[in-house]
Amino acid sequence: MPAENTMTKSASEKSWQQRAREISFATQAFIDGRFVNAASGATFDNVNPATGRVFCRVASCDTADVDLAVAAARAAFESGSWVNMAPKARKRILQRFAESIHKHKEELALLETLDMGKPISDSLKVDIPGAASCIEWYAEAIDKLYDEVAPTGPDALATITREPMGVVGAIVPWNFPLLMAAWKIGPVLAAGNSFVLKPSEKSPLTAIRVAQLAVESGIPEGVFNVVPGFGHTAGQALSSHMDVDCIAFTGSTATGKRVMQSAAQSNMKRAWLECGGKSPNIVLADYPDLERAATAAAYGIFFNQGEMCSAGSRLIVHERIKDALLEKVAAIGAKLKPGDPLDPATRLGAIVDEVQLKRVLEYIESGKTEGARVYAGGERKLENTGGYFVEPTVFDGVQPTMRIANEEIFGPVLATITFKDVNQAIAIANNVIYGLAAAVWTRDITIAHRTARALRAGTVYVNCYDADDITVPFGGFKQSGIGRDKSLHAFDKYTELKTTWIDLS
Ligand code: NDP
Repeated sequence: MPAENTMTKSASEKSWQQRAREISFATQAFIDGRFVNAASGATFDNVNPATGRVFCRVASCDTADVDLAVAAARAAFESGSWVNMAPKARKRILQRFAESIHKHKEELALLETLDMGKPISDSLKVDIPGAASCIEWYAEAIDKLYDEVAPTGPDALATITREPMGVVGAIVPWNFPLLMAAWKIGPVLAAGNSFVLKPSEKSPLTAIRVAQLAVESGIPEGVFNVVPGFGHTAGQALSSHMDVDCIAFTGSTATGKRVMQSAAQSNMKRAWLECGGKSPNIVLADYPDLERAATAAAYGIFFNQGEMCSAGSRLIVHERIKDALLEKVAAIGAKLKPGDPLDPATRLGAIVDEVQLKRVLEYIESGKTEGARVYAGGERKLENTGGYFVEPTVFDGVQPTMRIANEEIFGPVLATITFKDVNQAIAIANNVIYGLAAAVWTRDITIAHRTARALRAGTVYVNCYDADDITVPFGGFKQSGIGRDKSLHAFDKYTELKTTWIDLS
């Protein structure tokens, strides 16, 4: 009998920790169908947030690399190799690409978790399958969209057609690295554009890997390029590039404004912004199932370590039910103990890096200083691991003027504000610069409709939180952004409308 040898175990029998030690992966840029070092030879350290240790070094792209990637994307677009392919053929290739992401789900999930600290079970169940099915959905759409004929008089035929933009640049954040990229990749490529993607410097690995999978699936070289690097170098070069036709950004509101400025000051490229949020979750006293409302409120802020643009970070609750609701929310939070992201049982992983950890802890301190009460949590955890863990934290007694009630924390920190009547709740909800998501819980259908209409947010949930489907648009009112990801509306961002007027007189 052969001795038991861990190396002969199938991948699925190995622990994720063992797989993490054995995995090999690319860390270069991907330009014109090939892996390349940054032209300068520079690299940056990539830190595992669960240990605080550098686990790889990644090509640090700059203007020269972005120039090469944009030139490759432009040449691919001009060659027609992708844009002039019959929609049915593009569909098949994108379907293969989506299948390939599905097939490499475990490898991609592991890279995502090592890169940004989210629990492996979330990477496996949410991020990677979500990215694959997003691309699949846009692939399916391509050969089912028709253009328009305008209702002109009989002496003319005027067609209104959608044409791809050309070269689309995308800059994405680290909280759902591949999923946020997929919300761009799907419609951008389905519409026939060429693409240059700059992932966050905190989470570049899955973007690099899927670019390779894209080419292996049949997407022509030069159509899909990835330039890892910093925002102020690679990101800035992409958003101010004179030969990029459109920039699709997801990230903070402050950076979004810079991207918009760069777009305006260069070639007036289209700039689409998916930015931050401080979303209100309003619970009325008549809602009968507090357990359900508490579960949604807890996951609405604690899921993904609270690193969610749509996080329900302000719990706006009727004063009569506040104590009962908070007790339940805190009990759920107490069960979500931070732990090793590579353990499949872990539900709360590490905060993405030391900078973000400090930011979250600083907000917790500011809440205390301004007079709010820590109802639950409030501490850094597992410091001995070297990783960046924070326990689920609930503040009570928050006033709408406090920083923790207005600024996006991007961590597992809930601010609870009470109200006496629904109009007051709506006024509090709308009184921030953001307008990404909002929720209202009530059994009264009239109040539900009236409140949903009054809330200034791109998505309003009624008696639920964070319900999601690729078929519905996602994006923000006010300073939460411009434009929508997901659904067929995303094509509006990556196509130009052309009128062709044919004289028939
Ligand atoms: P940042 O704004 O810090 O960064 C987002 C991206 O922009 C990163 O790739 C970053 O690069 C890059 N960047 C930074 N500076 C510049 C610059 N001057 N020019 C061009 N690009 C730049 O956001 P985070 O990565 O911290 O992500 C969290 C934010 O994203 C939160 O505000 C969250 O709400 C928002 N978000 C919004 C979503 C939505 O759909 N509305 C969805 C998900 C997140 P690098 O990090 O490498 O320096």
